[in-house]
This record gives sequence, C-alpha cells and structure tokens, in this order.
Amino acid sequence: MHTLAYGTDASFYRLVPKMVIKAKDEQEVSLILSECNRMEIPVTFRAAGTSLSGQAVTDSVLIVAGSGWTKRSIYDNGDYIKLQPGLIGGYVNKLLAPYGKKIGPDPASINAAMIGGIAANNASGMCCGTSANSYKTTAGMRIVFADGSALDTSDKSSRENFSKEHEKMISDISRLARQVKENQSLSERIGKKYKIKNTTGFSLNALTDFTDPFDIIEHLMIGSEGTLGFISEITYKTVSELPHKASSLMLFPDIRNACLATIILKQTPVQAVELIDRAGLKSVENEQGISAAIKLLDEHACALLVETAASCSEKLKENISVIKNSLTSIPTLFDIEFTAIAAEYELLWKIRKGLFPSVGAMRESGTTVIIEDVAFPIEYLADSAIDLRAILDRHKYSEAVIFGHALDGNLHFVFTQDFTSAAEIDRYGKMMAEISELVVKKYDGSLKAEHGTGRNMAPFVELEWGAEAYQLMKEIKRIFDPKGILNPGVILNDDNSAHLKNLKPLPIADDIIDKCIECGFCEPSCISTDMTLSPRQRIAVYREIKSLTDSGKQPHIAASLIKGYKYSGDSTCATDGLCAMNCPVKIDTGQMIKRIRKLNIRGNEKIALLLADNMHLLTAVMRSGLKKLAFFHSILGTAAFTALTGFLRTISFKSIPKWNEYMPAGAKKINIKSAESTDCTNKVVYFPSCINRAMGVSRDHKNEKQLSETLISLIKKGGFEIIFPSDMDKLCCGMAFMSKGCTKAGEKKSAELGESLLKASENGKYPVLCDMSPCLYTMKENLSNDLQIYEPVEFILKFLMPNLTVEPVNETISVFPVCSMKKMGLDGKLKELAQMCSTKVVVSDTNCCGFAGDKGFTVPELNKHGLRHLKDQLHSEGVKHGYSTSRTCEIGLSLHSGISHKSIVYLVDSVTKKLNNKNLTSCQ
Ligand SMILES: Cc1cc2nc3c(=O)[nH]c(=O)nc-3n(C[C@H](O)[C@H](O)[C@H](O)COP(=O)(O)OP(=O)(O)OC[C@H]3O[C@@H](n4cnc5c(N)ncnc54)[C@H](O)[C@@H]3O)c2cc1C
Ligand code: SF4
Ligand code: SF4
Repeated sequence: MHTLAYGTDASFYRLVPKMVIKAKDEQEVSLILSECNRMEIPVTFRAAGTSLSGQAVTDSVLIVAGSGWTKRSIYDNGDYIKLQPGLIGGYVNKLLAPYGKKIGPDPASINAAMIGGIAANNASGMCCGTSANSYKTTAGMRIVFADGSALDTSDKSSRENFSKEHEKMISDISRLARQVKENQSLSERIGKKYKIKNTTGFSLNALTDFTDPFDIIEHLMIGSEGTLGFISEITYKTVSELPHKASSLMLFPDIRNACLATIILKQTPVQAVELIDRAGLKSVENEQGISAAIKLLDEHACALLVETAASCSEKLKENISVIKNSLTSIPTLFDIEFTAIAAEYELLWKIRKGLFPSVGAMRESGTTVIIEDVAFPIEYLADSAIDLRAILDRHKYSEAVIFGHALDGNLHFVFTQDFTSAAEIDRYGKMMAEISELVVKKYDGSLKAEHGTGRNMAPFVELEWGAEAYQLMKEIKRIFDPKGILNPGVILNDDNSAHLKNLKPLPIADDIIDKCIECGFCEPSCISTDMTLSPRQRIAVYREIKSLTDSGKQPHIAASLIKGYKYSGDSTCATDGLCAMNCPVKIDTGQMIKRIRKLNIRGNEKIALLLADNMHLLTAVMRSGLKKLAFFHSILGTAAFTALTGFLRTISFKSIPKWNEYMPAGAKKINIKSAESTDCTNKVVYFPSCINRAMGVSRDHKNEKQLSETLISLIKKGGFEIIFPSDMDKLCCGMAFMSKGCTKAGEKKSAELGESLLKASENGKYPVLCDMSPCLYTMKENLSNDLQIYEPVEFILKFLMPNLTVEPVNETISVFPVCSMKKMGLDGKLKELAQMCSTKVVVSDTNCCGFAGDKGFTVPELNKHGLRHLKDQLHSEGVKHGYSTSRTCEIGLSLHSGISHKSIVYLVDSVTKKLNNKNLTSCQ
C-alpha cells in the first residue's frame, strides 16, 4: 500500500516504486546511491512531491528526503541562509522575515514545496523572474553524486579532495565549458534562451556563465531534477522583502492590449505582472474580493494583476504614479486604481494563485486537470498568446484558462483532460505537438518555463534546443551519471511518446474527494504524514481501492489494500479537517474517513445511541474510573503504574487505552450553587463539556481547582452571572460520536444540546460559553445561528478582560492552538490573550497534536508522532508552563514535552483581579 501511496506526485503520471527509502542523512543517501550504482538500479529523489511534469515518480527506488531534512543556519544578518532539502519554502521565508529578507524563488506552491525540489526544479514564480531564481541566488551546495561521493562547493578542502578523486569528471566539465565558449553560435543561443524563463533540459548557461568547474557543477545541479546528483544542502543569497506594497487589477479590452501594456510595464518599478485571460476571470468571478463588474465584461477582456513595492510609503506613491503615467497610451476598461491595503491586495493574489486549482475544482469527476507552462520572448507575447488560444480552440479545449507571469513572457494554460480513452489521449497528443511547434518554431520560446522538463517535455527537448545542444546535455549526463541510474526518463528521453505513457488514473471514488488534484498542499498540515498516510495518499489509495473493488479486478490486491487502510487510512486519521485549510479545492479528507467509519459501524450505532441516551451515567462511570486509576497511581507511583497499565494494554491486544502520568483524576460533580452571584450585571450560559465534567485535575496540577471551578470563579470575577443549561449532565455536543462515524447518536446529542442552550440563553439573548474549543467548533457547525457561542479565549477577551486588571507573569510560557482554534481562525486570539498575561509567549510550532479526543489513548503513537518536535522547541525557548483550550490535547502536550499544560483559563484567573469603580462591560 505504501509504495502505491508514494507513486503519486502532483503530475498526471503514475509510477509505483518498488522500494521507498526515507533517508535519514547524507551518509545514508551516499550508501544507497553507491549500492544502486553498483547494481545499476534506477533511483529517484522526492522532496514534497508537488512537481507537475512527472519528475518525482519512479517504478524503481524512491529516496524521500523530506521532513527529516530540516537543519538550517542564517548568516550575515540574513543575507545568506544554508538549508537542508526538506525545509518548506514558506517556512524558510518565515525564518527570514525578521531580517526583512526572503529566498529568491517564489513558486505558488511555496507553502508545500521543499528546498530540494525548489532548487532541483529551478522553480520560480510571480516576482523572482530570471534574476532571483535558484540559479541566480545559489551560493554554495553540498552534493552527493551517483557513485556515492560527496562534494561541498563552498569548502576548499572538499573541492581539493574531489578534484583528486574525480580528476576526469572535473577535466571533462572544464573541457565542455571551453568548447561551448569557443562555439560562438551555441553560446549566443544559450545566452538568448535564458533571457526568458527556461527549465527545458539542463541549465546550459552554467557552461557559458562560469569557468570554475565547481561553479559549473553547482549551477548545473539547479534545474537538474534529480538526474545529476542529490542536493544535501544549499546556501542561498537572500533577497530583500520590501515592506510597502500596492496592487492593481487592471482591465483591458483584449489580450493584445494587456500584452502591450506588459512590455511597457517591464520598464517601470513593478514587482510582478500577472496576466489573466477572460476564461480565467470567469473562473474566479464569484470569489470574494473580485469586483461584480467582472461578470459584465465582454468575451475578449483581459486583466493584468500588477504589484509594486518600495522601502517607504512615499516611494510607493511615486512608483504608482510612474506606473499609471506609463500606460496612458494603452486603452483600459476602467481607470487604474491601486490598493495598498494588505487585506485587499492579499485577496487578489490569493485568487490569482488559486486559478489552477479553481479550474481543477470545476472539472468533471474522473478527469485530470493539466497545467502547461510555456514562455515566449516578451516582444511576441501578444501574438503568441493569441496563437495559443487559437490552437486550444481548434482542438476543442475552449474552456482552457490562460494566465501567467507576463513580465517574463511565461504563460500557463490549464485545461481538463480525460485520459480514459485512446481518442482523448490522441487529442491531447496532437494539441501538444502543435503547441510545441508554435513555441519552438514560430517564437523560439521555452516549452517549460518553470515547472521542469520532467517526463512531460523530455521528448521535446531536442526539438527546442536543436541537435548540438541536445548532444551537449547527453554529454553532461554521461559525465555526472555514467550508468544512467539517476531519475532515468526525466529531462532526457529517447522515447518520442514518453509523455503519453504511465498516465495517472483518477477514478471516481467519493464525491468528497473526487476533485482532488493530488497536489500535496495538504501534506504539511496533516499529523499522519510521514507516519502512515498523508491526506493525498489516503485519497490516492482510496481511489485505487474503489477502482479495484468496482471493477472486480485483482481481488487479492484490493483485499490487502483494504486491510492496510484500516490502520493507515482510518485509525490514524485524527479527522480534524486541518487538511482542508491548505487544500486549494477545500477537501476535508477527514470527512471521507468519517464516511468510511459510518459504513463500517453497523451494529455499533445501536450501542452509540444507548450511550448517548445515558450520557450522565457515562460521565459518572468515567469520573469514578479515573478516580480509581488516580488512587492506584498515588499508591504505586508513576513508574510502576505505567509498567502495569502498559502490560495490561499489551495482553489485551491494545483494547485497553494507554495510561500515562498526566491522566487526570475523576472530576467532582459541578456545584451549581457555587456559580450563584449577587453583584453581576451580565449573564452567560456556561456549558461544561462532558470531558471536563468527567476529567478533574492531574497529578502535576494537584494543588489547582478543577477547570469548571476555576472558570466559574473567573466568570464571576469578570462580572457575569452564570446560567447552567438544565439537564447539564445529559448533554454533549455529539463530536465524540460523529468522529467515530456514529452520526445518528451524534446528531441526536447535538439537537438536544441546541434545544437546551436556546432555552437557557432565552433564544440567544445571552452568550453561551463552552470550555473546550473542539466541542465549541462542533457546536458552531451544527447549532442554530440564533445562539452566540464562544470558546474560552474569545469569551474572555471580549467580555471578561475589559472588566479585569492584569499583572502579567514574568516567565516564558507557550500556547498551543488546537486544530479547532486554527479552523475558526482564533489562533491569533490565543496568542493575544497569552501576551496580556505573560511577558514572553512562545507559540508551539506543532500543527496538530493528534490526541483527537481519545486517539491519544487508543492510538498513542499518533500523538507521539505529532508532537515529536515539541520538547526540543519548548525546552530550547525556556518555556516553563504550557497553555491550551482542550483538556485531552493538554494530556498529550504535557506527556510529550515534559512541561505541564493546562487550560489558559488558569493563567488568566491567576493574573487578573476584578476592576473596581468602573461600569462593567455589558453583553446585552
Ligand atoms: C498547484 C501548484 C502550483 C505550482 N506553482 C508553481 C509555480 O508557481 N512555479 C513553479 O516553478 N512550480 C510550481 N509548481 C510545481 C512545484 O511545486 C515546484 O516545482 C516545486 O519546487 C517542487 O518542489 P517539491 O518539493 O515538491 O519537489 P519534488 O516534486 O519532490 O521534486 C522535484 C524534483 O527535484 C528532485 N529532487 C527532490 N529533492 C532533491 C534533492 N534533495 N536533490 C536533488 N534532486 C531532488 C526530484 O527528483 C524531482 O525531480 C506548482 C505545483 C502545484 C501543484
Ligand atoms: S483529517 Fe487530519 S489526520 Fe485526517 S487526513 Fe485530514 S489533516 Fe490528516
Ligand atoms: S486533498 Fe486538496 S491539497 Fe490534498 S492533494 Fe488533494 S487537492 Fe491537493
């Protein structure tokens, strides 16, 4: 199952590796390569697998160098950064932000793509053009070659040793460079071709731009797509991130005028100019932030999204004026207006970045979405764009969207394609042949501007470059990789129809996931990525299971996939939905898993309904069970009790949940009378979650009151009278049932809760507070909009803080925004509240803790995996106490960081006092 899962990248090719190796370090890569070289076994490298041209898939050995490869060092006040290949580009930019810097390459996929892939594809985006890509900004590299040998281009002794051990390679490279420089027509051609973006074939400009063989090697590695060696480290010269920005969506009567405007804009202080044709505008006309006027434009209209940036606001105004004045000779449909409001221009750029996926989201299920990536010399941009549209129309791809980095002559065209019939494959093949002729013969452009040659353009490299340059590329490959083991078939491929082979099937499987384009953007946010399956892999494997079961083919394979999926697909999915947050088509893979659970639940739904009807008994049993456990823990001590419960779990085949030392004792029953108050001007309905009604304090907090008591005291201090919903003991938000697929029981509990809260709040007159963020999220999703419902952070900030004085603690604390807070966009609020209460706040770098209600007890390895970096982060930052808003998550956070975590309510209560002599804030 796992080899199948790793057989997918973001391209429309599928090859299933025979072996997937998650290499740990350079020594391992070196060993694997030297052995594969000896045995002549092909090897492909993988970083994030977001490549679009089929360069990150293989049917041989796949070496994954992703999440474990994250070491980095920043030098010279942010001017240089040394990076391992598994760091995500967007994360690197976050590290550089305090220095006012960023890395040059800026692919739209930067929040998922990793440094190894960014460098090996020479990826670029809207701003970097040809002047700040990896080729132009690399400043040193560590490389492992096919024979297992390593070189550090920035280390003198490494270069000397390498020269001695690889004398022939070094002299061959120097000879090639000399030959090319002496060949005037070839070197002129190379110079011309790199005036525009080009990732077709190897980076031949390395041979004309440099003389030192190590500089040549380093620059040939850029854009080599894993076919020349492995990049184990790269140093980038960073670029400045100008702080003042403004953007304008300019509308032109037609594509010709938009392209003519682009040529003029190239001479002005613009950072980016993105073209969006009429079909592209149509695909986003309903997005928030897009003017309603777009819908009324005629069929020829075309837009340019333009950005300018400056070091100060005065300079920014000057830039805008220069840009506007430069375009007076070009007709526009509306006056040109810029916005410098971050929220407004960020929305425009978000829409632009989402163009490719938005076409993907509109496609028919079962078809593929393809993005092509060509570039033309900018002086021919208008004619070439018009010709391109004509070819698309002729081959009946009229729905295709054309957009791209106009400033660099780089146009993308996106269309949907059915690969299930020979006729459709033939149509695609003919259209691509015609486009190749257009790009190469008519305009001498690039067939791949930034996405890399891959398998997709490999058959066309000779067409684009000509026989002489093509032979040069073959010679380079022979020098670096004489046995041809590195990513064969990619960049150079003698098979004329390689681009039409190994096409990826995308069978209809489930409407929740059918729109998935397998881009991999969801992988960094998923807890089980790298442990079992990522969301993309869950989908890819599920598609295969459905296809096999529906067709009845290969039943033994289907059965083995289904068996493996139980744990890797189902049990280890936290169903937290974080995958949807970064998904360009908003797929929540957890919803599909819940649907699968529902199908498998059958008889258990009856038990769930029984439990739901007896919630009060269930919490009482939990309370007493936890009290008993706490009693034995106090007698036996942590070590002995951990060993005993571990043993019981083992002999019960893991049916007994895993106990740990941070497990709480049972809670005391909530004393409703304690909430009575005489001097309050406001009222709030407090719904204590069933978890907090059952779980009391753990041993590390034994001197504290339980959460409900602390919250009651804080609410009263903030001037609110508390109303408890009637039948509180029987109530539950239903999440625990729904997440297990017991939808009926979950919906029943949710309906009961909604009814009770409406009554208690007098139909929404008073706010409702729940003490667990995950429960609150479920309530927000399911309950009536008449209710104003809050989790603790938002409620405290909005209603209580104005009525309290604060004396912040002078110690470093951490906060962990749980998944539901992230999904509700409240993570910033948690930090804000914590910063009011402490002098130094660290936000945990971890995305999801994986406790997922009870998975921390039943699948504890998921929790351990999710929090594997937490301890190092919190200890290195000197954190003393951790805070969050979910009782169960706090158990896992304490266990895996060794730092006690509890609700932020405790912190707020301990640092605040009632504000005297002031009218208390009213909520009515
Ligand atoms: C929606 C979407 C939008 C995109 N937008 C852009 C864009 O704007 N601009 C752009 O240029 N690209 C874009 N891409 C393509 C892709 O995301 C980028 O090329 C990205 O840089 C690939 O990085 P990766 O980490 O996914 O690499 P992978 O796909 O894992 O690998 C890329 C190549 O590098 C090789 N490789 C990986 N690691 C190493 C290593 N350590 N040493 C040597 N070789 C290695 C692989 O074998 C492969 O050939 C987009 C993709 C998607 C899905
Ligand atoms: S719901 Fe969570 S665990 Fe499941 S696939 Fe999505 S991000 Fe991963
Ligand atoms: S679920 Fe979304 S983010 Fe993940 S691979 Fe599919 S389309 Fe991409």
